[in-house]
Amino acid sequence: MDSAAWQARDLAVLWHPCTQMREHLEGTPLIAVRRGEGVWLEDYDGRRYLDAISSWWTNLFGHAEPRIAAAIAEQARQLEQVILAGCTHAPAVQLAERLLERAPAGLSKVFYADNGSAAVEVALKMSYHAHVHAGQPERSLFLALSNSYHGETLGALAVTDIPLYRRTYAPLMMQPRFVPSPDAFLREAGETWEDCARRAARGLAAALEQVGERVAALIVEPLVQCAGGMRMHHPAYLAEARRLCDAFGVHLIADEIAVGFGRTGTFLACEQAGIRPDFLCLSKGITGGFLPLAAVLTSETIYQRFLDEARERAFLHSHSYTGNPLACAAALASLAIFDADRVLERNRERAALLGEAAAPLADLPGVAEVRQCGMIVAIELARPDRGPHPPEQRRGRTAARYAVEHGVLLRPLGDVLYWMPPYCIRAEEIARLGEVTRLAILHAAEVAGA
Ligand code: PMP
Repeated sequence: MDSAAWQARDLAVLWHPCTQMREHLEGTPLIAVRRGEGVWLEDYDGRRYLDAISSWWTNLFGHAEPRIAAAIAEQARQLEQVILAGCTHAPAVQLAERLLERAPAGLSKVFYADNGSAAVEVALKMSYHAHVHAGQPERSLFLALSNSYHGETLGALAVTDIPLYRRTYAPLMMQPRFVPSPDAFLREAGETWEDCARRAARGLAAALEQVGERVAALIVEPLVQCAGGMRMHHPAYLAEARRLCDAFGVHLIADEIAVGFGRTGTFLACEQAGIRPDFLCLSKGITGGFLPLAAVLTSETIYQRFLDEARERAFLHSHSYTGNPLACAAALASLAIFDADRVLERNRERAALLGEAAAPLADLPGVAEVRQCGMIVAIELARPDRGPHPPEQRRGRTAARYAVEHGVLLRPLGDVLYWMPPYCIRAEEIARLGEVTRLAILHAAEVAGA
């Protein structure tokens, strides 16, 4: 069967995530992917696409990475799944040990979940519950940053500030308080990234002065607000946030679901600010992009608060596939690759190549800024004064369609094009990514009549 046949069968039965299905019904083709290898996806007609977005930021070392595939196969022959309440197994234990070794000192316990949103739900509930245990049930308010994204289940969506996802469901959700984002794209004339971060921290301080006694936690996406348009900030914000949270008895939740596992250049983004969050949420890249898994790391202090004879004082939260052995085996194999292939070290060279390939794009018509944080590059399509292009020009979408037609899978966030490729990307593939993106931006400008 060719791609067209799969596309037709798909549209008869499937409803896709985060998709206006009408666009596909009216002609935008789905990419029907038969196989993947390295940075490449191949469709049923043999056409290849460079996966510049790591399949929704999950893939780390390329598609069908043989060492991870082998680890999963071996584990599947031993034990595919077992309930993690009342039982344990080697992959879950070993993975928790490995994650804690790499996490900031002072995090000592791992709670598994099976996707990013679920990890955020766990952190929010655990934070509130820990305050209840400490005799402060009034701490039921969460702080989140403007332009934040933490997932799409109702709790995670409640602390998400992207109207496209949140607005419709707002009546169903708890109401957090949103505080200013340190987003450096919003820096004022003459401000550095750091000044901008410190200004946002003053906004956080002001909010805490007002409502600090009622706050359970502040949740942040360290260094890069990914779904919010790959908006980046200076680590000074995180250091300030840590200090302020401590001063007001508030937990800090670091959502590293998208930025963890080397995306920002360090293994964890928090490292760049030298901070230890009270809750660290991990998912996406945790299995190298093979299987769904999430983990919430927390401190001994939090863990100890739940110890009691009474069952209801425990953290009674569960997902059926919590700590799935196959997913844990994939994650262990993925962590082993970080060491065996000296991934973080080699990523420094790759990040430099990505930066070189992206720099000239800043001079193209309709581009306001090119920015980079480690292995993440964003190209903001906006006016020279940073105001948005007229939305009806749909520059991001036009550019992405052009790129896909030319063998590069981009999936922009509005008018922000970005690269977050698998770490195995080679120099010639980076060059191709740069060239197709250049042509795509020019094409979008031309279509817009600019
Ligand atoms: N937090 C962040 C920062 C994310 O980027 C995402 C996913 N894009 C999530 C949470 C939710 O993860 P999942 O899609 O696995 O529910």
